[in-house]
Amino acid sequence: MNHEFYMDKALELARQAAAADEIPVGALIVNPANGEIIASAHNLSQHSLDATAHAEILAIQEACRKLNSNRLRGLDMYVTLEPCTMCAAAISFARIEHLYIGTEDPKGGAVLNGVKFYQQPTCHHRPIVESGFLQDECSQILKSFFQARRLHGRRAAGCQQPTPETALLPLRT
Ligand SMILES: [Zn+2]
Repeated sequence: MNHEFYMDKALELARQAAAADEIPVGALIVNPANGEIIASAHNLSQHSLDATAHAEILAIQEACRKLNSNRLRGLDMYVTLEPCTMCAAAISFARIEHLYIGTEDPKGGAVLNGVKFYQQPTCHHRPIVESGFLQDECSQILKSFFQARRLHGRRAAGCQQPTPETALLPLRT
């Protein structure tokens, strides 16, 4: 398996997310037996107004629908950013075999950082984890995204224009 090839595909999804003003994280589910990409997704929390719409969750949902199963045994996941606690648990529940991570997330990660979910006795399926695939690219896309957001936020505050985030929100009375 060419891990960089699949991480590059996940990175392309992260770029699509950034272009849509979603946090740039992409995930793929791959069958290592034949190299087939079973599911692919990027974060969609803002547009779907769904706090759980992380790339990993959406990819798992798509793969489960496609394979008509709640278990994804023998399949691998590629994700550009270390999964959060919610996604780490979902990956375990889905019985993903290998988890390939682009870059670590010391602030919000739950695999190599934070609660280290797969090391807890309450975790009953532990994927084999490897990290650092296209690490610089996976990390840079997030840095650029948040830098641009901060810049835009400051400018918007100065001229009283809505930010893209608030402009997307439906009007509430
Ligand atoms: Zn997550």
